[in-house]
This record gives sequence, structure tokens and C-alpha cells, in this order.
Amino acid sequence: YHETLPVPDNPVEVHALSIEFNRLLNSLNRQVIRDHQFVSDASHELRTPLTAIRGHLSLIRRHGEAHPELVPQSLEVIDTESLRMQHLIESLLQLSRMDHATLALALFDVTRLMQGLVAAQPPAGQRVTFQGALGVIAYANADTVEQIVSALISNARKYSPEDSTIEVLLQESGQHVFITVTDTGEGVPEAEKKRIFDRFYRVDAARSKEVAGTGLGLAIANRMTALNHGQLTVSDNQPRGSRFTLTLPAGKPLSEKKSDNI
Ligand code: ADP
Repeated sequence: YHETLPVPDNPVEVHALSIEFNRLLNSLNRQVIRDHQFVSDASHELRTPLTAIRGHLSLIRRHGEAHPELVPQSLEVIDTESLRMQHLIESLLQLSRMDHATLALALFDVTRLMQGLVAAQPPAGQRVTFQGALGVIAYANADTVEQIVSALISNARKYSPEDSTIEVLLQESGQHVFITVTDTGEGVPEAEKKRIFDRFYRVDAARSKEVAGTGLGLAIANRMTALNHGQLTVSDNQPRGSRFTLTLPAGKPLSEKKSDNI
């Protein structure tokens, strides 16, 4: 490394270089700690379903013949837990793929995308409504925007009552397009609002246990949002529930916008 870099003989430059080197080392250290934490969290999350699978396999092996009535229940657990592992692995792969990804950004009609997404919602469960002006254009990646809003709608469904309504609203103001997904569910406590975007974080593990999930959905959505040069935030709905807002660049690519302003 030092062979390819010109080593300065001026003490001021040496000092500046050592500060820069220290900064690099610190950031590398932080990255290593983050990666280590990630691997440890991921292993823990994968180990839980795997332990259940192996436990029930051993149960079947030892007692299956004498107590065949136990078998279907064990098979059910094995099925659920292996599906959970599959979801986890797919989500983990998606997260890691996005670490070095760049997205193809283009102009697209967000109104049409949202109308299609809302129309494709399953008829059972909560009602999902859409409101927005016609022909709102964003400069982003349509596929990932669809995935982000799908994840928000799916969460709204998971964390709100069966007979409630979920509202998808599309608005435009200046340089931004805002897509909000509002539910009347249990809401996100103030202290948890930042943390729900962290990998594997789920509000109140006991409460979340009843609802299937990995704690990776919002981390993926957040990362996709950043790749779209957007922002993803959560606030309270009144009198209850939560509102997630996805902000995207509006209209034309920035370079065209600049020349428009001249
Ligand atoms: P999960 O797979 O647990 O749903 P997410 O990353 O999508 O993972 O969400 C993280 C946590 O944020 C959830 O476990 C839940 O506690 C909370 N959360 C997300 N969306 C909502 C919502 N619409 N209402 C209430 N809580 C939510």
C-alpha cells in the first residue's frame, strides 16, 4: 500500500495523512462490528426455526410409530418453520444483494402503479382504498417502488384489525411525490419509531409473536428507498394506527429540472 502512495516528507502532510488513516481505520472497524452483529443476528434467527424442525423430527423418529396421532401436528410445525427459514433466507439474500446495487431510474406514472397495486389486493381481510390525482410522475425505479408500497400495505394488514380500512394516498408537492399508507391498527410507539427500520427489529417480541414476520421487511424497504433517492418515515395516525410515508423525487430527472429552471 505504501509503495503506491507517495509518502509525504512535510510534517503537516504526514499529520493530515495520519488523521485520514485513523478515520478510515475507525470506519472499517465500525463496518466490521456491524457485519459481525449482522451475522450473529442472522444465525440466531435461523437457528430458532431449525431447532424446532430438528426437535419435531426427532419426536417423530422416536415416538411416531407408537403414537401416530402426534405425527400430523409435528409435520405442521416442520412445514411452518421451514417456510419461515425460506422467507428469512430470501430476505437476507435480498438485503445483501442491495448492498452494492444501483437501480435503473426512470420516469413513470405512479398513479397507474398504485391503482394496479391496490386493485390486486386480495379481497379478503381489510379494505384497501386509493386516492390520488391522475398522472403523477416520479423519477425512480417502478419495480422497487411497488415492492416498498406492497410491504407497507402488507404490514398495515398484519398489524390492524380484520374489519378496518387501509388508505393509500398519493400526493405531489414541488420536487416530491408522497405515497402514504395509513392504518388504524396498533400503531408504533414513539420510542420504537426509529428502530423498526433496523434489521431484525420487531416491536415488543411477545406481541409480534402472534404475527408472522422476520423483522427484515422495513429494513429492505428502507434500503430500497435510499437507492431510489427517497425517504421512508413513520408517524401516528389519529386517533389510532400508523402512517408510513414514502417520499420520491417528482417528475423529471434532476438534470432536466435544472435546465428547466434556467
Ligand atoms: P415484520 O416481519 O416483523 O413485520 P418489518 O421490518 O416489516 O418486520 O417491521 C418491523 C416491526 O415494525 C414489526 O415487527 C412491527 O412491530 C412494526 N410495524 C411495522 N409496520 C407496522 C404497522 N403498520 N403498524 C404497527 N406496527 C408496525
